Amino acid sequence: MKVTARALAVFLAISIPAWFSLEAQAQSLGAGFSQAGTPAASGKFYTFDKIADGVYYATSNGPMATGGNHPIIVNERDVMLVDDGTTPAAARALLQDIKLITNKPVRWVVNTHFHYDHTDGNSIFGPDVEIIGHEFVRHAIMDLDVLHREPYKTALSNMLIQVESLKKQIAGEKDAGRRATLQSQLDATQQDWEQLKTIKPTPPTMTYSSKMTLYSGQREIQLLFLGRGHTQGDTVVFLPKERIVCTGDLMESRLAYMGDALFDEWITTLEALKKLDFDTLLPGHGVPFHEKSLITAYQGYLRDLMTQVATLRKQGLSADQAAQKVDLTSHKADFPQIQGPGADLRGVRRMYEWMDERAKP
Ligand SMILES: [Zn+2]
Repeated sequence: MKVTARALAVFLAISIPAWFSLEAQAQSLGAGFSQAGTPAASGKFYTFDKIADGVYYATSNGPMATGGNHPIIVNERDVMLVDDGTTPAAARALLQDIKLITNKPVRWVVNTHFHYDHTDGNSIFGPDVEIIGHEFVRHAIMDLDVLHREPYKTALSNMLIQVESLKKQIAGEKDAGRRATLQSQLDATQQDWEQLKTIKPTPPTMTYSSKMTLYSGQREIQLLFLGRGHTQGDTVVFLPKERIVCTGDLMESRLAYMGDALFDEWITTLEALKKLDFDTLLPGHGVPFHEKSLITAYQGYLRDLMTQVATLRKQGLSADQAAQKVDLTSHKADFPQIQGPGADLRGVRRMYEWMDERAKP
C-alpha cells in the first residue's frame, strides 16, 4: 500500500504546477485512482473503495473540484459522511453517487475541521441531518470570516490563475485534439469557479469538546478531539471494532496545509493518534495507509521545519525568505512531493506568527 501511495504522490508532484497550493493539490488526489481497498462502485463524480463492511472511502474521479476525500460509514439505519466537500455542488454530487453503495439516508455529517474543502457542502443539508464538529469548528465558521482568509483565499486566486493559464494554452495550441482537452479542462474550472460563489459558510448543528460516541446497531463511532494541531479543532473519527481511524488533515498521507497550525501541539496530538488501536488510517487527502511509521515521519518533518525556521528567524530572515531557504529534502523518501529546498509559504508565515505568539510574555 505504501509503495502505491508514494507512486501516486510522485505522480502528483510532477504533474501539478508549482504554484498550485497544497490544499488544491490535495483536491486532485484520488482522481482516476482506486487503491484504497476493493473498488465498490464508481459514479459520475466519485469512486467508492470498500475498506470494511459498511465503510467506504470516496475519492473524486472527475474534473469537478470536490475537496477532501470522504470516509463513508453505512450504519444499520443511516449513513455518516466524514466531511462534505468544497461546494454545495460537490456535496450534492456525493449524495447522488452514494446511492450506488446504499439506499439508506445520510443522517450524520462530521466536519473534521473548519477548512472550506471539508465543510462547504454543509449548506445543502436540511434539519434531518446533524452536522457534528468540534466546538472550534462552529466558532471558526461563525466568527472568523472564512471566505476572506486562508486557505480559501488562495484556492480562489489559484483557480483564476488556472483559468488564465488554460486560456493562454488554448490560444497557443495548434493540435485540435489537445485544444479540445484543454477546453474541457477550462470549462470544468470555470464551473468550479461559479460553484465557489454559491458557498454559504454553515456551522455544525452539534458540537462537542473532547469526545462524543455514537452507537448504531453493532456500530460504535467515536469522535475524538486529541488536541490542537492542523487547526484548533480537528476531529478524529475512530471505529474501534473495525480498527479504522479517519483523521481529516491532522494526518494525511502527504504533507498537510500548515496555515492554521499549532506546530508543537500538532506533534503531541499525533503522538496521541498513534496510541489509538487502529490498522487503517483514512486521511482527508491522499490515500489510506496502515503504517504508524508515516505518522512518526510527519512528526519528524514538523520538528525539523520548526528547528530550521527558528534558526533562520534568529538570523533575521523574513518568513518568505525562510520558506525558500529551509531544506526538508531529507524527508523526501516519506513525502515524495518534496522536490527540492523550500516549504509552503503559508505554512512558514504561520510558523513566524506562531513563534511571535509564543514569545509574548
Ligand atoms: Zn485542512
